[in-house]
Order: sequence, then C-alpha cells, then structure tokens
Amino acid sequence: MADKIKAGHVHMSGCTGCEVAIADNYGGLLTLLDKYVDWVYDLTLADVRHIPKMDVALVEGSVCIQDKLSVQEIKETREKSAVVVALGGCACYGNITRFGRGGQPNQPQHESYLPIGDLIKVDVYIPGCAPTPQMIRNVCVAAYLLLKGTKEQQELAKKFLTPLMQLADRSTSACGCDLMYDVINQGLCMGCGSCAAACPVRAITHEYGKPNVNREMCIKCGACYAQCPRSFFNFDVITEFEAILELFDGALK
Ligand code: SF4
Ligand code: SF4
Repeated sequence: MADKIKAGHVHMSGCTGCEVAIADNYGGLLTLLDKYVDWVYDLTLADVRHIPKMDVALVEGSVCIQDKLSVQEIKETREKSAVVVALGGCACYGNITRFGRGGQPNQPQHESYLPIGDLIKVDVYIPGCAPTPQMIRNVCVAAYLLLKGTKEQQELAKKFLTPLMQLADRSTSACGCDLMYDVINQGLCMGCGSCAAACPVRAITHEYGKPNVNREMCIKCGACYAQCPRSFFNFDVITEFEAILELFDGALK
C-alpha cells in the first residue's frame, strides 16, 4: 500500500453534525484510517493544536466574519492544504447560519456568517445537512485513489469527484435559474423536494411533484443548487455508477 494521504477536520461555525457523520462510518472509518488516511488534525479526535500541512482539509461550518480567529484559521487552512473540501451545507452555502443576526447568547458579537467559498477558494463540495457518512468516506477514498491509485482507479475517482469540484467552482453564485436550466430542464429532476426545503426565502414551491422557482424572490444564494442530489449525481456519474460502486466496495474490503 502506498503512503496514506494526510487529512483532517477543521471546525468553523457548525453544529458538529458533520463530524458525527464522519464517525458514523463505524467500521468503514477504521478501514479508511488503516489503509488510506492519516487523520492529522481535528479538535476532538486528534491531539494537535495547530493546523498542519494536509493533503485534504474537510471544513465544517461557515465563518463568522466578526471573529478574527476564525477568519485567520480558514485562510491558514487554505494555505496549508492541497485540497479544501467544504463539508456540509453550512460550509458550502451557509445553511442555517445565514440566519445569524447577532445578539444571541453566548456570543452576541457574532453577526454575519459566510460560506467558506466567500473567503477562500474551495476545491470540492460535499453538500447535505449533514452529508451522508458514505459520501464523506467515498470522497476520502476517491481523493486517495486520485493521488495514488492506478490509472484506471484515477479515471473513475475523477469521474466521481468532478461534479463535486464543479459544484465548488460555482460556489455561492448559482441561483434557482441555474437549477431550472441544469437539472429540471435536462430531465434530471426526480422530484425529491430538497431544493424547496433548502431555499431560505421559500422561493421554490412544488407543483405536480416538480419544483417551480419564483425568480423575483430568489436571492441567488446557491443553496438549492448545492442541495440538489442531481447537481452532483449527474449523467456522467450515473453512466459509470456500477464501476464507481465496485471501486469503493473493493477499496473498503
Ligand atoms: S434563494 Fe432559493 S431559489 Fe434562489 S438560489 Fe437561494 S435557494 Fe435557490
Ligand atoms: S433537489 Fe433537484 S432533484 Fe430534488 S426536486 Fe429539486 S431539482 Fe428536483
């Protein structure tokens, strides 16, 4: 087995649910740690107090811009990590933390929370509140195979990661119209309702099982786009899905 990659968890303003999702991999987490990943940084799971150099940093939570330490920490994470992953809705698009307005105990000075993509360049999104344990595990294995696998493994890992990288590229600039053009009008929508549930201003309604976006209400926050499973589970991934599943199953045996 080639060298493991160095990965860690950086905790910004989130509820720790994403970290719980990492731990919820149970035996899969142990396989991950045995074979693929050295877990070099984590406030609760590693006895390390300064952000080290990492191949992959999984960042949970948004950033309070009144908190200088948090702003400094996210910038340091970017400087020291080859790949920065926005782990979960708060890091990807702000999620519930968008509603922070200050005055709340015990940090009344904290008012404005930004998704990490508004402060640094993000390479990969793993949306979800919280993301599924399997998705986190698969991204870690795919990152390993992309860096250290055979040519065939690299190609499949890239297929799996590309939509998540494209999602990060669009960052928080995607809007409800993009969802209409890229997902609904392409016939990819399966009517799950995640977009309507994620929209903080209720600009999306469900009509006959399909979402309808009220463009005048849309604040272009990107929440619906990131939360839509078909924005990252698209035609390219679907057509290679069996091979990708076999890749992960084989890697985690
Ligand atoms: S406001 Fe609603 S419809 Fe507009 S981008 Fe955000 S989540 Fe999507
Ligand atoms: S989240 Fe995506 S798949 Fe689900 S209803 Fe909205 S557009 Fe359709």
